[in-house]
Amino acid sequence: MAAAAANCIFCKIIRKEIPSLKLLETEKVYAFLDIGPLSEGHALVIPKHHGEFLHDIPADSLAEILPATKQVVEALRKGTGMTDYNILQNNGKAAHQFVPHVHFHIIPRRGSDGLGVGWDIK
Ligand code: 5GP
Ligand code: ZN
Repeated sequence: MAAAAANCIFCKIIRKEIPSLKLLETEKVYAFLDIGPLSEGHALVIPKHHGEFLHDIPADSLAEILPATKQVVEALRKGTGMTDYNILQNNGKAAHQFVPHVHFHIIPRRGSDGLGVGWDIK
């Protein structure tokens, strides 16, 4: 059984205790739309295993993240016409992580979105 945290907002989303716009669910991974999108289609891919930092997450969960991220990317390409995107993953407060449950951002990029360069968009 994967670790879960009682009061973690993303664990609550995984448990369906708070609603989300789900894009994908596998045994170890959950993906959904960001509630405050930086651009249309901004999505989050998370391990079901609770952990604050990437190094807290077991390798078998991490192994499902990248294929799941690719599936969400393909869905966004088909569904929204997305072509370009940033994948972003913040670890710790100094790195601008606000939700302490590992998450990978998929941020669709369009020519004049005004978001700046990759490491400066969040
Ligand atoms: P961080 O800065 O921690 O890398 O990003 C956290 C992201 O989670 C933010 O983009 C924020 O909009 C998103 N977020 C925070 N709370 C919720 C929520 O309850 N539901 C959803 N769908 N996204 C959330
Ligand atoms: Zn959690």
